[in-house]
Amino acid sequence: LVKLDNVNKHYGDLHVLRDINLTISKGEVLVVIGPSGGGKSTLCRAINRLETIDGGTIVFDGRPLPAEGRELARLRSEVGMVFQSFNLFAHKTILENVTLGPIKVRKKARTAAEQRGMELLERVGIASQAHKYPAQLSGGQQQRTAIARALAMDPKMILFDEPTSALDPEMVQEVLDVMVGLARDGMTMVVVTHEMGFARRAANRVVFMAEGQIVEENIPEEFFTNPSTDRAKDFLSKIL
Ligand code: ATP
Ligand code: MG
Repeated sequence: LVKLDNVNKHYGDLHVLRDINLTISKGEVLVVIGPSGGGKSTLCRAINRLETIDGGTIVFDGRPLPAEGRELARLRSEVGMVFQSFNLFAHKTILENVTLGPIKVRKKARTAAEQRGMELLERVGIASQAHKYPAQLSGGQQQRTAIARALAMDPKMILFDEPTSALDPEMVQEVLDVMVGLARDGMTMVVVTHEMGFARRAANRVVFMAEGQIVEENIPEEFFTNPSTDRAKDFLSKIL
């Protein structure tokens, strides 16, 4: 579904992505972990072209990433993104947050969008909160709203950038459970997270990134029990 070939990115003198080669297949769940500043967020943002790259190519669904216009708008609607800081519209209800994209971007009829929106809120377990505003919900409920909002666009893939790091500990699991459900249903997902439990339950592959490079890539069981590089061993010893 996505193929990155020799992708490079600089911020001035800082080389944030170094020769990244990565293929993500349909239905695959890829967990990206690594130290702060290693380029994980930049990688996600490059895939839906929130960031440009200055070397290499990224192909999504058979086509190079479009630079602008209608094609770029389509890419953004096909690649959902869930951030650490939910990014919900504060002055819109939970249901409105979920139906806005389908109505505005997909030109879906309001009643159809609302019906589907309620189904998605049901799926993430917050249908009873549909008419509240984001500030009236817990962090975990807000993040589940953000996931429902991404799903409402029927994306081909969802990128999650540390979706649980801003949450109180007791709310982490409810969000991870929703994500595990999506993974089981076959959604293609790239998940930046340090939640080992999630990686072990749902990931097909773990990619360890440091200093802009993919240092190591393996199935979760192997990566967590038997990392092959010192860089990964050192990192794991600090977070486990
Ligand atoms: P974290 O775990 O802290 O989220 P990360 O792996 O997601 O880290 P990135 O956010 O991708 O790392 O950042 C990689 C590097 O690029 C960092 O050194 C960061 O300071 C730098 N960087 C990120 N965004 C910009 C920007 N817009 N302008 C300049 N430098 C940036
Ligand atoms: Mg980041």
